[in-house]
Amino acid sequence: MSDSRPGIPADRYVERLARCREAIAARGFAALLIGVGPDLRYLTGFVGEPMERLTLLVIPDVGPVRFVVPHLEATKAAATPLVAAGAADVVPFGETDDVAARVAGLLAGPETHARSSAGSLARGPIGLSDRLWAMHVLQLQRALPGRQFEPASMALRDLRQIKDADEARLLHLAAQAADRTMDAIAAGTLVGRTEAEVGREIRGRLIDEGHDLADFAIVGSGPNGAAPHHDASDRMIAAGEPVVLDLGGTLAGYGSDTTRTIWVAGEAGIAPEPEFQRVYDVVRAAQAAATTAVKPGVRAEEVDAAARHVIAAAGYGEFFTHRVGHGIGLETHEDPYMVSGNATPLRPGMAFSVEPGIYLPGRWGVRLENIVVCTDAGADVLNRSSLDLRVVRG
Ligand code: ZN
Ligand code: ZN
Ligand code: ZN
Repeated sequence: MSDSRPGIPADRYVERLARCREAIAARGFAALLIGVGPDLRYLTGFVGEPMERLTLLVIPDVGPVRFVVPHLEATKAAATPLVAAGAADVVPFGETDDVAARVAGLLAGPETHARSSAGSLARGPIGLSDRLWAMHVLQLQRALPGRQFEPASMALRDLRQIKDADEARLLHLAAQAADRTMDAIAAGTLVGRTEAEVGREIRGRLIDEGHDLADFAIVGSGPNGAAPHHDASDRMIAAGEPVVLDLGGTLAGYGSDTTRTIWVAGEAGIAPEPEFQRVYDVVRAAQAAATTAVKPGVRAEEVDAAARHVIAAAGYGEFFTHRVGHGIGLETHEDPYMVSGNATPLRPGMAFSVEPGIYLPGRWGVRLENIVVCTDAGADVLNRSSLDLRVVRG
């Protein structure tokens, strides 16, 4: 492997598995069954899409860890860092095998069986990865009658939401690539192009900047900016209106997600509407207040409240219609969520967005979004493109 390609070193996966098994023991789980998705990537380095054939990392409370995969994926599974490091064995199955029954058999293996007959933890719940398809969940439930199932996130959440140094490094790289994309788009031509054209340019640039996936490119011009999750339509961008640009994807599996709202003045130099400038300043102040609120021990909901307070005090409370942020890592939206009701205390290593917005239906919207990592010294702001209102000619 070349040194220039960013990624997670193999020994990190061994360390994560060890911590996962501590979490299994602490929660009293009998086992975790992890299907294809972000949890599997986190634990093994396996990158893939879920499909009708079941692939499962079987992590019992004690005994060997097995990676149960269809034959045609066995080579790929053997090459994952966790397996290559000797911390899990690949168990391939054929097209006609009853995989769920095989998995049930593995869980009833000698080690766990001896413990269960002694009335031990082996009768505890089985954790299923949150993203496992219903068809697989139902097969496993039939193959393991009488067992209790819980979301594996009960054991994995605490691990995944605290980013290790390698993950923080990849989030930094992803944010920098997104910033360069944002700056290039703001410096280019917008007037006379459709949102979709600009969206395609964003996706292309994210890939050119090293992303492996350019997931989303929200281009909300004029009234479309009032819909926070508007995609990119065939609407033509005009002079004398704002555009909300919210872009991101993944770099080496880790997410970027940043939003800037710019004013398109055009050749005629149409100045921002006074209320737009006012709303922009409010959102910027809210974004700063929420960022300043980030400290270890502060509840996630307090970060939301910090932004909401600024916006409500300015009279726009009813137009800030979403939570202020979401965790980010292997998934663009993951724990912890910065939302009212989430009393989770922030801890160093948590990475999340801070993205207040004000949306005036039929007119426009303003949103500003940075990714931050909580550190002992407060928020480490990963996105560095300017938060000043950009008034662009093109
Ligand atoms: Zn979103
Ligand atoms: Zn976003
Ligand atoms: Zn976001």
